[in-house]
Amino acid sequence: MYKNFINSFTSIITSTGNRNPIESILDKFATGIAVFEIRDTIHVLYMNSHMLSTIGYTWEQYRDKLNDAASIFVEEDAWRLYNEVNTKTEFSIDCKGVRPDGTIRWYQILGAQVDFVKSVYPVFLVTIIDISSYKAMEKNLIVNSERYRIFEETTEAFLFEYKVKDDCMIFSTNKSGTVERRVIEKYSEFNHNSSFVHPEDRPHFTRVLMEACVKPTKSSIEYRSKAIADDYAWCRTYYVSVMNEYGQIESVFGRIQNIDEEVKKRNEMANLVEKDRLTGVYNRDAFMNRVEKSLECANEERSFIFSMIDIDNFKGFNDTYGHIVGDDVITIFAEKLKIAFGDGVVGRFGGDEFTVFISGISKSEFEKRFDILKNGLYCDVMGQKVDITFSVGAIRFKGSRRVNYILDKADKLMYEAKEEGKDRIITRTLR
Ligand code: GH3
Ligand code: MG
Repeated sequence: MYKNFINSFTSIITSTGNRNPIESILDKFATGIAVFEIRDTIHVLYMNSHMLSTIGYTWEQYRDKLNDAASIFVEEDAWRLYNEVNTKTEFSIDCKGVRPDGTIRWYQILGAQVDFVKSVYPVFLVTIIDISSYKAMEKNLIVNSERYRIFEETTEAFLFEYKVKDDCMIFSTNKSGTVERRVIEKYSEFNHNSSFVHPEDRPHFTRVLMEACVKPTKSSIEYRSKAIADDYAWCRTYYVSVMNEYGQIESVFGRIQNIDEEVKKRNEMANLVEKDRLTGVYNRDAFMNRVEKSLECANEERSFIFSMIDIDNFKGFNDTYGHIVGDDVITIFAEKLKIAFGDGVVGRFGGDEFTVFISGISKSEFEKRFDILKNGLYCDVMGQKVDITFSVGAIRFKGSRRVNYILDKADKLMYEAKEEGKDRIITRTLR
């Protein structure tokens, strides 16, 4: 049948048609199909209509090329094609072709010698497809991997690449010109079981990494990890999802920066802004912010105690022993509060006035802690123990309340304690 079909060629292709049934079927193929006869040049015995659209020619433009099919390729590639058809019986080569409008495209040409056409010359059945977009992607990948290699070799930064399909993490670093790599297979399991990323930061870190594996992402994250030092250090990782030629996320690539010093300085600055210089407890603003944040997301079941605390007769310390002793009294008292209420928030509102905010504690437990605190609460003034006493007004409540309302209630109770003779705690529960 093939023999009949091929031998029945009367013309290679015509602009008007007149095709036999098999030729018509071949015309429907989305691939350029041709039969070449190899003389001193390449003669086209047959081609389907898709051949013309693939190479970007009209019939009129191609008619002159029928006796020299290779002439549509750049000279170097035309010679390569001649070489293939003259030395092989099967070949596959990529050639650059120039279209009539001057644009250059890449074609993949597959050829196999056939004997169903009677000829004294070798005859090849060939297919031609346009692979320009694939070539562009291939070039991009080569350029990208070359960029990565140069980056890896010239940067002092720690780099990582997480290969999504392989679940494999590759860390690389350049130590004095030598690239060192650490490969961690089964990274998800490793990340889950090891303390490589600080346990407190791991849930967030894992979520971010997994998100970048499924949704194209370009972002940064701060966390503590042992990736860049033997012990935990604060890291900032800039990361980006890298896609393959099919638009699927193939890997997450990133750069890990050591920001340990930066974070420590930042914390020191935050301390300076938020903490009281004399005592190291929160200043009024920072204390209130923390209370507000806790109350914002409080449910009706959660109980809190907000208290105002004022040292009794504090002015007396200043007036009798001087301001330095007065400062000592404030510092000693703050230290005791921090120890007794380490699980709460301790603040200094100013002067000899302090605040404690704590959740999930009963009235009796709260008062018991003050009783313990009272024991041994004194200031040593030149070998003489001078007792320190204080008065507390505390409000116990559940759920979310307005902070200023609670503060006002606690303040009033503290003054009640003063009026009732000082050195006492008054705790009320808000219904
Ligand atoms: P009360 O028992 O009613 O609380 O009386 P008090 O003597 O403690 O009186 P009050 O609380 O009004 O006294 C606060 C004094 O604290 C007034 C102020 O001069 C002094 N003061 C405020 N800040 C400081 C500080 O940082 N250091 C020292 N040494 N004194 C301070
Ligand atoms: Mg006072």
